[in-house]
Amino acid sequence: MRYDLVVVGGRVAGSIAAYHAAKKGLRVLMLEGNPEIGTPVQCAGGVSDSFFRSTGIKPLPEFTCTRIKAAAINGPYGASITTRNPMIRGYIIERKIFDKYLALRASEAGADVLAGSRVKDLIFHDGSVSGVKFRGPDGTHEVESDIVIAADGIQSGVGRRAGLDTRFRPGELCSCVQYEAAGVDVDTETIEFYFGSRFAPSGYLWVFPKGDGRANVGLGVRRSSCSEVGPLMYLNRFMSDKGFKRIEFNAGAVPVCGPIERTFTDGMLVVGDAAGQVDPLTGGGIHVAAECAKIAGEVAAEAVEHGRFDGKFLSLYEKKWRSKVGRNLERSLRFRRALDALDDEELDALLRSVEGKNLSSISKISLLRVLKDYPSMLRVLKDIL
Ligand SMILES: Cc1cc2nc3c(=O)[nH]c(=O)nc-3n(C[C@H](O)[C@H](O)[C@H](O)COP(=O)(O)OP(=O)(O)OC[C@H]3O[C@@H](n4cnc5c(N)ncnc54)[C@H](O)[C@@H]3O)c2cc1C
Repeated sequence: MRYDLVVVGGRVAGSIAAYHAAKKGLRVLMLEGNPEIGTPVQCAGGVSDSFFRSTGIKPLPEFTCTRIKAAAINGPYGASITTRNPMIRGYIIERKIFDKYLALRASEAGADVLAGSRVKDLIFHDGSVSGVKFRGPDGTHEVESDIVIAADGIQSGVGRRAGLDTRFRPGELCSCVQYEAAGVDVDTETIEFYFGSRFAPSGYLWVFPKGDGRANVGLGVRRSSCSEVGPLMYLNRFMSDKGFKRIEFNAGAVPVCGPIERTFTDGMLVVGDAAGQVDPLTGGGIHVAAECAKIAGEVAAEAVEHGRFDGKFLSLYEKKWRSKVGRNLERSLRFRRALDALDDEELDALLRSVEGKNLSSISKISLLRVLKDYPSMLRVLKDIL
C-alpha cells in the first residue's frame, strides 16, 4: 500500500490534518488505534465560539449539548465572580459524537480512515520517515508514504520513534480525572470553575453543564503538586459534597508546559497534544490542535507538490504554527506561572477585589489598579494588555 500521507491518531488533530490534506488532493490514510473513534472520552468538551469561527465547522445540534454564555469562578474561601465576557461564549460538545463527525468529514474529503489500527513502528528510507507498520483487526500491514503526521496524543510514541523529544516530565503534565455526573442542578449556560488547594492544588475543578441534569465534573492537577493523594480524592469529595451521581468515569493528562521544542523532522510532522499544543493556562487543546492541524495538512500538501519531504522544507510547518499560536501559548504559560505564585488567601482576595464588577466592561486601567497588590500578576497582565 502507498499513500502521500499517513496520519497516526484519529481525534481532533488527526482528523483535521487529514481533512485539509485530503481537500488539497493528497491520498491520505488516517489510522486510529482505538476500535471506536472518540472513545474513551478524555475531555470536558468546552469549546469557544472562536473555534467554530476559525475552523468553519458548524456547531451542529448532533454534538453540541449546551450553549455557554457565562463563567463562574469560585475561590478557595467563598469569593465568587461571574463573567459574561464574550470570549467565554461557546458550547459544551459531546466528544464521542464530535470526534466521529470530524473523522467522517475527513473521510468525505477523500481520506481513508481505519479504526482499530495501531501503529507499531515506522518505516525509514535514507534516515527519513517514509511509512508505518500497523496492526489492524485483520493482521499486520506496512504502508509507505511521503509524510507521516503524528497526531497520536500525549507522549507521542510515533514522534519518539522518529527521534523527536515528545516526552513530558511529571511537573509539565496536568493529571485529569472526570465524571459525567447526573443529578446536577446548575445553570446550563454557565461553566463553573473552583480554584484553591481545597479543590485542586495547582490546578482547578470544573463543572461543565450538559443539560438534563448532567454535567462533566472533573479536575486537573499538576502531578508534582499532588503526589501523595491522587486527584481522584479531591474529585470524589466534591462529588459527595454536592450529591452528584457518577454515570461515567474517565482520566487523562494534558501537557501544560508549552509546546515541544521541535515538531518536525525528515518525513514527519507532530501535531496536537503530541506536540504539546495546548493552552498552558486552561489546559484546553481542541482549538490550538485544530489551528495547528490545518497548517500541518496544508504544509504536507505543499511538500507533496514540491516533492520535498526533508526537515528543512517541513520546518515551514513549525514556522507557520508558531506565528499563528506561539505567542498566545507563551502568554498563557506566563499567566499560569503568575497564578501559581498566589497562595489561597491571595487568590481569594484577588477574586473579592473584582467581585460584583462587570468583568466584560472592566477597563485595563481599573484592572491594573486592582492588581497592584499582586506584582507577579501585574507584570504578566501589563505584558498581555
Ligand atoms: C479530562 C480532560 C478534559 C479536557 N477538557 C478539555 C476541554 O474542555 N476543552 C479543550 O479544548 N480541551 C480539553 N482537554 C484537552 C483536549 O482533550 C486535548 O487537547 C485534545 O483532545 C487533543 O487532541 P489530539 O487529537 O491532539 O490528541 P488525542 O485526543 O489524545 O488523540 C490521539 C489519538 O491517537 C490515538 N493513538 C495513539 N497512539 C496511536 C498509535 N500508535 N496508532 C494509532 N492511533 C494512536 C489515540 O487512541 C487517540 O485517539 C481535556 C483533556 C482532558 C484529559
